[in-house]
Amino acid sequence: MIDPRTSRFDVAVIGGGVAGIACAAELAEADQRVALIEQRPTLGGRVHSHRDSMTGDMIDNGPHLMVGGYFATRSLLRRLGTSSLVRFQPRLEIAMCDEDGETVFRHRRLPRELGLAAGLAGMRGISWRDVWRTRDLLRSARDESREKLDAMSCEVWFDRLGIPESVRRLFLNPICLSALNDVPARASAALFANVLARTFSDRGTDGLGFITVPQTDLFEGAIQNLVEQAGGEVMLGKRAKQVLFHGERAVWVQFADGREITAQHVVVAVPHRAVPDLFDEQHRGALDSGILESLGSAPIVNIHLWLNRPVLERPLLGLIGRPTQFVLGLDHIWTEPSRHHRVIGIISGPTGHAEKSHAELIDQMMEDLRACLPEAWGAEVVRSLVVKERAATFLPCPGLLMRRPGTRSPWPNVWWAGDWTASGFPATIEGAALSGSEAARAILSVTH
Ligand SMILES: Cc1cc2nc3c(=O)[nH]c(=O)nc-3n(C[C@H](O)[C@H](O)[C@H](O)COP(=O)(O)OP(=O)(O)OC[C@H]3O[C@@H](n4cnc5c(N)ncnc54)[C@H](O)[C@@H]3O)c2cc1C
Repeated sequence: MIDPRTSRFDVAVIGGGVAGIACAAELAEADQRVALIEQRPTLGGRVHSHRDSMTGDMIDNGPHLMVGGYFATRSLLRRLGTSSLVRFQPRLEIAMCDEDGETVFRHRRLPRELGLAAGLAGMRGISWRDVWRTRDLLRSARDESREKLDAMSCEVWFDRLGIPESVRRLFLNPICLSALNDVPARASAALFANVLARTFSDRGTDGLGFITVPQTDLFEGAIQNLVEQAGGEVMLGKRAKQVLFHGERAVWVQFADGREITAQHVVVAVPHRAVPDLFDEQHRGALDSGILESLGSAPIVNIHLWLNRPVLERPLLGLIGRPTQFVLGLDHIWTEPSRHHRVIGIISGPTGHAEKSHAELIDQMMEDLRACLPEAWGAEVVRSLVVKERAATFLPCPGLLMRRPGTRSPWPNVWWAGDWTASGFPATIEGAALSGSEAARAILSVTH
């Protein structure tokens, strides 16, 4: 154990979420002595799991999905040696269900817009004419100025492009809500354009990535080994209280128990709301508190059900027009079997569902399952659990994309990382991984 009163680190990374882990991994690989500081007893931040006391099964706080174009996340997992724990669809395939039954989007391996067009054309309820009217979407997503798109909501963008109702209802609206965590009427067109451009890029041809284990297993252990091999330390259950300065340089990180460590560089990889708390009043004045406040927060509710019989035939199903927007079937995702058939309902965004009682949410999910899946009529709930993450993401409002800060802080050796920084993405593990990697590279560029 390194004595925290005297130890000197190359870099102190405050926050052990995906951003902090990505940063620490890249620095450790470059032989930097890193202190990775996390206030909770486990790493992963908003990507974590715990054991259910009743069933003994592991539970994710909210199951995370990836897309093939999560390049920074995939490179982090390769670095940690855990990329085989995520199974990617060879091509994007998303099944949606409404009152008329199921319809599946299957992305075709065709150049550029044609892959999307062929996928849409294969969906029940979308005519060739509707596909034709969607022809400008990807071109606009790739080429239009981000300033211009960030001034409008997705809904205004779709109106301007003439996107028909069928394509919105069966495909774009549910994807926007799950990727940006808000409805198209409120979410920034620029953020969604970035998601679409990446998902349908010629580089990212894989489809959705499903984590086949409790998601904590992606990081814990692996990052500890990397950091320790380079002479650093992962400090769990340690809340950083303040970053202390000498002149304009940060020198110490002080903990809640009064102890301190010194470091050449400090990476602040905490959620945006927690950033001001790490600075005294004088230094807080240099922060752009306007943007930190405007980012706000939006909830995600997950309803975990253990059923006595299988109801889902696939890993993921979108429920069109129902409060439960997507359902995941762990039978088709996790490699470790459960004694029961586990399904997880996802309700994204500030839709008011986070204010409902657990009983109401469970009843709602069963009603939604029965409306879409005949098998659900005979299914009994053996166990249920609701996880409400009230500050799951920042709000993806128009007007914020260009204002999000980059890696550089007002001080020469303090760096920002986290999903809230200027990655161009909504709050995602990809945005977090990218920001952590950029902070590490910025530090290496000034130290090497
Ligand atoms: C329910 C849910 C579902 C989601 N689904 C998806 C999905 O499907 N796909 C996707 O890409 N993204 C998804 N996201 C978003 C994604 O999880 C986040 O964008 C990402 O994990 C943020 O990582 P981060 O490192 O920036 O922040 P965090 O994960 O919040 O990490 C910050 C860490 O800093 C620590 N910390 C804070 N203050 C201090 C302090 N003073 N001292 C020490 N430590 C401190 C915190 O404890 C935390 O561990 C979801 C999020 C939630 C909650």
